[in-house]
Amino acid sequence: MKCIYCNSESNLTVSDIIPYALTGAKLKKRFVCKEHNGFTNDNYENQMIRQLDVFRNRLGLTERDGDPVRYKAELSIGEYTFPSVSISDHASIMDNSKRVFRTTDENGKTILVGNRSELLKIKGATDDKIKDISASDFSAVSHTNIQNLFISAATLHAIAKIAYEWHCFINDIESFDSQKYSDIVSYILNPEAQDHPVELVIDAMTWALMDQFSQTGSNMLFEYCDIDGNTYVIFGFWGVIIYKVRICKNDNVQFIDANIYNSYFYHVDGTDSGAIFAIHGNPKILSENCDQALSRLCGEIKDRLSKLGERDITKEYIAKHIKTIEDLLPKYKSGTCSIAQLLDFEHEDRVVPVYIIEQLSCNSQNYDTSETFTQNMQRNLDCKDKFIFTKDKLKEVLQRYVDMDKSGTFADMIENAIAFFRSI
Ligand SMILES: [Zn+2]
Repeated sequence: MKCIYCNSESNLTVSDIIPYALTGAKLKKRFVCKEHNGFTNDNYENQMIRQLDVFRNRLGLTERDGDPVRYKAELSIGEYTFPSVSISDHASIMDNSKRVFRTTDENGKTILVGNRSELLKIKGATDDKIKDISASDFSAVSHTNIQNLFISAATLHAIAKIAYEWHCFINDIESFDSQKYSDIVSYILNPEAQDHPVELVIDAMTWALMDQFSQTGSNMLFEYCDIDGNTYVIFGFWGVIIYKVRICKNDNVQFIDANIYNSYFYHVDGTDSGAIFAIHGNPKILSENCDQALSRLCGEIKDRLSKLGERDITKEYIAKHIKTIEDLLPKYKSGTCSIAQLLDFEHEDRVVPVYIIEQLSCNSQNYDTSETFTQNMQRNLDCKDKFIFTKDKLKEVLQRYVDMDKSGTFADMIENAIAFFRSI
């Protein structure tokens, strides 16, 4: 085994072929020397990852230590704006007793947001000057630039690195073949290089293939030999964009009527899957240079980015989050966990499942066991494919739960609802 960039046999380290930060699936191999592993991380891979933090957070990807991903956002609370606040989730703002945010209003008056007891320590602060806010009062906006995100020099270098390492991984290549790979390797090892081997795929079949087998945030990879005599790796990133990376020349390929390919899908939850497909005749996956293709695909990519992390409301999804609530219930009943903490500061992954099982158990006489869970849910909650709370509806439901908490009936409701949910 030698380094696939320099043939060094010493100091070999494990490379994350797709960086851990961009997938739940662990795809590693010890075939890159320490120097080159550090080089790709430091020169562009880390930069690409940081740019994607807000989306990594939405996909539920975590930092190496398992902590939720933090990102910089502009926080709006009513008429006030707090620029560049580092957040990860509602709890990072609502459940952090020491944290105080500061901004000024249009008259230059200082506005502070924080835990009441912390604010009261400030000179001149009195109880009547402090207003309560709830998580639904604020919104976090993170500004992104599609160009920077997907076709900056850093990103294209990182994409080329992923494609080359994956090609070596899948073909059991365990050293650097300078005859074959000098072009791509010299690009990967020169962060200043402009002349890159990456294009964007505009081929409808490839987009359809990605959509059919992807879950939210999945990465798709396959390679093929083109009639132009090159081997390409196709990398569908998070179901949002598809890159085509030229790996090497390949002149000896015989094309047949139906050329069969294996595609690999690596999912956020750590699982992977595969799909086999064929290209009839002379294989060519249509692509264009990055600038041109991105201007063409910009609307599509933005739309896909905005939907990233959306979860289908399945029985499994509800069961997973209800289990967390069930685990917290003893603490809630003994008073060591507040209703806000139980509902993770209005996180939709908690509120939506609670609301759904509450409605189903209240209308248990309408539950039809000859139908699927989803059919029952759609009928009882009068929703179509997706269940979406409007902001007003969310406020109304949360207010009802807070009132139930005050009157001491919330625990009974949730226990009955869980019992009913388990019985169906
Ligand atoms: Zn090396």
